[in-house]
Amino acid sequence: MNAPPPLSELLARASAAPGALSAPELARLVSLEAPEDRAALRSAAHAVKLRVSGARVFLRGLLEIGNVCAKNCLYCGLRRDNAAVRRYAIPEDDVVQMALAVHSAGYGSVVLQSGEIESEANTERIERIVRAIRSGTSPDFAIVLSLGEQTDEVFARWREAGADRYLLRIECANSRLYRAIHPEGHSWERRRDCLLALRRLGYQLGTGVMFGLPGETPEDLASDIRFFRDIGADMIGMGPFVPNPETPMAGAPFDPAAALELALDMVAATRLHLHDCNIAATTALQVLAPDGRERAILAGANVMMPNATDLKYRRDYQLYKGKPCLDEDAGRCRACLSARVARIGEAIAWGNPGTPPHYLARTSK
Ligand code: SAH
Ligand code: SF4
Repeated sequence: MNAPPPLSELLARASAAPGALSAPELARLVSLEAPEDRAALRSAAHAVKLRVSGARVFLRGLLEIGNVCAKNCLYCGLRRDNAAVRRYAIPEDDVVQMALAVHSAGYGSVVLQSGEIESEANTERIERIVRAIRSGTSPDFAIVLSLGEQTDEVFARWREAGADRYLLRIECANSRLYRAIHPEGHSWERRRDCLLALRRLGYQLGTGVMFGLPGETPEDLASDIRFFRDIGADMIGMGPFVPNPETPMAGAPFDPAAALELALDMVAATRLHLHDCNIAATTALQVLAPDGRERAILAGANVMMPNATDLKYRRDYQLYKGKPCLDEDAGRCRACLSARVARIGEAIAWGNPGTPPHYLARTSK
């Protein structure tokens, strides 16, 4: 048997062109143990990020517009059967006002996220909200939806109303693992088909996974990264699975320090395999370490997603426990973000939607 190539050779090949790594090579990248190897992986990924996206970070304001959910994902605090949650839906006008405030604050995009509701009333509510935001903001301000699985017709209506992007994590590319963390009636295939529909409809496509799931292997993580490329994702948002005490997966093992290291390696390996997509330094990373998001930027991420939801609602949107900035207002978050990003030698790209080059390349053909 041939000896595996040195890590430096793998990193050079991955840096030269996207899609250069095989599944076993990706599995190797996400299971490195020596600190110097992990540092080399992350710095190679940061170099690719600097080349494709510059020394800048794009901001996306997150609005958690409601926590009512018809689904029952075994890991999530918003699941239907969690009776401990006080349910809310932010009134339409307030959602629009918050989104306009995100725009005026100089963020390039806003995300409307909620539990999954499939109903004509909800479809119309979102249509009205998206139209109002569209007409009150500049044309390049990106409106991003993260509202779960819907029919092709609903996705088309929201796109027509003015939505530019959609985020729908596949959660894990391995459909067997997906079944283990969802009850009956939740379908991996439907989620995948939603992603295909969104792409067809011209959305900028965002997907992602949770990692650190019970029973997950490095091969599973490699297949997550290959899935992102195969589905043609423009944007990736990933985070560690954080057990929530109000869910059936409350007792799952969790090591915050290991989760952060794995998160940084996943970001880096994803950047090296995809090159020109957007990768978010997600809020969950900040739960694991105060500088988790900055470290993710230095491992290849290029987007931060500060929470811009009115404080009075934030307490009730707990996908997992310990979400940061629960007591901070958006203004203070803004000032601290600028300083945090400057400290790592990068700058926030104010007013720039940060349209992923991957999307521009595939739509200009
Ligand atoms: N309902 C929509 C959007 C809100 S949930 C949807 O499911 O797509 C957004 C994301 O939160 C999910 O995709 C999942 O990856 C993440 N999430 C939920 N529970 C979590 C937990 N316990 N730990 C980490 N991430 C979690
Ligand atoms: Fe609902 Fe999304 Fe949570 Fe699943 S992950 S229970 S769909 S909010």
